[in-house]
Amino acid sequence: MSRILRVVFHAVGVAAFLLLLTGSSALGASTRPNIVFIFSDDHAYQAISAYGDPRKLVETPHLDRLAREGMRFDRCLVPNSICGPSRATVLTGKNSHQNGFYNNSNCRFDGGQTTFPKLLQASGYQTALIGKWHLVSEPTGFDEWRILPGQGIYYNPPMIHNGKRERHEGYVTDLIADFSLQWLRERDKSRPFLLMCQHKAPHREWSPALRHLGHDGDRRYPEPSTLFDDYANRGAAVREQDMSLRDTFSPLDAKFKSPPGINEQQLRDWNAYYQPRNESYERSVPQGDDLVRWRYNRYMHDYLGCVKGVDEAVGRVLQFLDDEQLSENTLVFYASDQGFFLGEHGWFDKRWIFEESLRTPMLVRWPAQVPAGSVSRQLTSVLDVAQTILEAAGIAAPEDMQGRSLLPILRGESPQDWRTGFYYHYYEYPQPHHVRPHYGLVTDRYKLVHFFHGGPDYWELYDREKDPQELRDFHSDPQYAEVLQALRRQLDAERARLGVPDETPPEAFGATK
Ligand code: CA
Repeated sequence: MSRILRVVFHAVGVAAFLLLLTGSSALGASTRPNIVFIFSDDHAYQAISAYGDPRKLVETPHLDRLAREGMRFDRCLVPNSICGPSRATVLTGKNSHQNGFYNNSNCRFDGGQTTFPKLLQASGYQTALIGKWHLVSEPTGFDEWRILPGQGIYYNPPMIHNGKRERHEGYVTDLIADFSLQWLRERDKSRPFLLMCQHKAPHREWSPALRHLGHDGDRRYPEPSTLFDDYANRGAAVREQDMSLRDTFSPLDAKFKSPPGINEQQLRDWNAYYQPRNESYERSVPQGDDLVRWRYNRYMHDYLGCVKGVDEAVGRVLQFLDDEQLSENTLVFYASDQGFFLGEHGWFDKRWIFEESLRTPMLVRWPAQVPAGSVSRQLTSVLDVAQTILEAAGIAAPEDMQGRSLLPILRGESPQDWRTGFYYHYYEYPQPHHVRPHYGLVTDRYKLVHFFHGGPDYWELYDREKDPQELRDFHSDPQYAEVLQALRRQLDAERARLGVPDETPPEAFGATK
């Protein structure tokens, strides 16, 4: 779209917004829903019991309650599977190439751009952001914000409160819930609110709360069938990555080093759990595949311990809404900034267009509007969050937002013209995990992927119906020639519609070292 057209669209959007604002004031604040957007970091759908992973990794009763009382999204995708870019997409309703936040390495969020919290704030909502921000610049559009600097740490994290640095004693997930509830208690009860409660957990290095150490009784976890993936039948990128349990897992990941920020008293409890287990490891260090297995089990204990903390924090917020009789007209979201590999392909981390990383959990409850226990299998995205919340609040979304409101789906409708293809684009390279930049089109069944940087470029085609674990590239299989042509056309059309530039700006790949 040309710049002039974009300006016109923006002006029309603002005018429509102002019109709606004047019109909606007659409705009164009480009819507009409250919004609680709970966002976690790197929470895989495999680690929410409501998603029914066959490994049955963990019980998450509070998250399951959201699924039971609202809608579970089974194919909620992210347009760029890493932390900062996904957060920028949620706020702006735009892809990375439009909001300017491509990677975690050298980007700084332009807080001057339009975001859905700003529009809510301007229309009379009180707004707060508590927890992980990770967009470098200071938050804009919030009456109150209390964020972790950068990635944040798990124990006794420093935080920044409306610009002022503070330090707190405690475990990060508990503190984020504490401050969220404090803000909710102290809010102006005559106006609707937006709370964005954003957890650091279960991000690497996966340090659980002390009360969750040993939560699994030293269970040996069922392994994913691809734990020992040999990366055959695919291009070079899957072999070149640096995110495997075998080669990349660090001493901090393994808890051979104590986590940053932990104090002496906490360290005693921490050591009481890890020390005997680490000594047993040292006495007979596992080798080869057994080492991968040992790491997988340590990883699962720690990661799932973090998830238990998040689940409890969600439960506390839901309890508050019940106690204040706010549940009926509060739109509660739970989502993660992307999915995560829990040993599939031998990996942790994210970044890929492959399912475990592309798909994020999303649970939405709004008893006033959303049928309980419903499930959506449509291609939806965190890209749709901004427009959904704006529509729910009766605010016209700016025309240049690139997602689509999920409200019809949430009400149980099946819009005939819903998207049949989803555009994905990952940039950050080579650090930190050496995943080659790629873009592609995702449909119900297929993924067409172009690895376009970091080596000779090539295409791949995945068929999830025949190959659900994405272990085989069908791109050069003549039986797929027609499918390939159709996907290629659809991909080109999506790139044109979304205004993806032909040449990627070099800074999009991150800092050069
Ligand atoms: Ca993340």
